[in-house]
Amino acid sequence: MESQHFETNAIRHQNPRTDFREHSVPLYLTSSFVFDDAEQARALFADEVPGNIYTRFSNPNNTEFIEKLCLLEGTEDGIATASGMAAMYSSMAALLKAGDHVLASRSVFGSTHQILSMLFPRFGITHTYVDIADPASWESHIQPNTKMIFVETPSNPALDIIDLEWLGKLAAKHNLILNVDNCFATPYLQNPAKWGAHIVTHSATKFIDGQGRVIAGAVLGKKELINEVRFFTRHTGPALSPFNAWVLSKSLETLAVRMDRHCSNALALAEFLETHPEVIKVKYPFLPSHPQHALARKQMRLGGGLVTFEIKGGIDRGRKFLNALKMLSHTANLGDTRTIATHPASTTHSKLTDAERQAVGITPGLIRISAGLENIDDIKADIVQAMKASAVTS
Ligand SMILES: *Cc1c(COP(=O)(O)O)cnc(C)c1O
Repeated sequence: MESQHFETNAIRHQNPRTDFREHSVPLYLTSSFVFDDAEQARALFADEVPGNIYTRFSNPNNTEFIEKLCLLEGTEDGIATASGMAAMYSSMAALLKAGDHVLASRSVFGSTHQILSMLFPRFGITHTYVDIADPASWESHIQPNTKMIFVETPSNPALDIIDLEWLGKLAAKHNLILNVDNCFATPYLQNPAKWGAHIVTHSATKFIDGQGRVIAGAVLGKKELINEVRFFTRHTGPALSPFNAWVLSKSLETLAVRMDRHCSNALALAEFLETHPEVIKVKYPFLPSHPQHALARKQMRLGGGLVTFEIKGGIDRGRKFLNALKMLSHTANLGDTRTIATHPASTTHSKLTDAERQAVGITPGLIRISAGLENIDDIKADIVQAMKASAVTS
């Protein structure tokens, strides 16, 4: 059954019950599927009838996960992939060819950056990075061979917001494919397809799994584009394991309640940090102090699970602060039940120059918090004690 409501679809969209009358959908851990007869095998391979052949092409668990994700994102079709990066790569490699150009926001995920700047040039696909802070300049960077616009909003780690309605119109005006990595927002907070995105990509590793267990991704979008992506993934093989698809389909059942809590914890933490004397600046899309607060409220249901703040004392203080944390995890993930703290200047973005870091909003004392689902008082208490323990003694 299909409902008007996100939560109901996330729970009730599932594969038909088998003869075993199970309530929870079983795991189809099988590499291939048996043909009833030679005629059925022929028809399946000829795409004349729908059905499973081999798990690299499709599997009931992957199909359930992706159909549900399409329902929640408001997209026509989709492909589940073995990682978020397999989704980013497939969504571009399947739709671009030598001679094409991509317009990308400068603040994209590190590996997406590597694909655009190190791998695609080998195949004759070029790109231009544009700044989120300067959208008025974007149109002037569109070239006759520009084929795709690729963005993330909110951006990582600066949490800047791109106006999706404006961008959807810009893409339509120039007949470009708009590809939005919606990993930070999840389909519960924001649906880029509603604003004109043709492709919506996800790392399902983050909030969609939400419990730090699996690596996965998805490419969603218009049927004719997804058919090209399907051809590409069927023959290049980044298929999602059915076990991970089964885990993720169950995870989607709780996405709405989890996101409500991630977002309320993140907002409470952001409001608290704004009053803390050791903090120079806090950024959170739903704080009135965020420069694009009104835009965030227009296109997002809630402000998301990530908060950043600038701690006094620069790069050294940032490192000391992380070492002083007792409960918060120091790990390279986000969107987990456990609150996670990272210091981009000394880790994920340490290879950039100061100027490059500045361009993507990474100051020396910037700390990124992925608010988990623990009690907010315990999250605050650990941050407060780590602030004290890392304070520069004069
Ligand atoms: C993590 C992440 C990715 C990559 O996803 P993996 O599942 O780690 O391959 C891509 N985009 C964003 C915004 C991410 O946070």
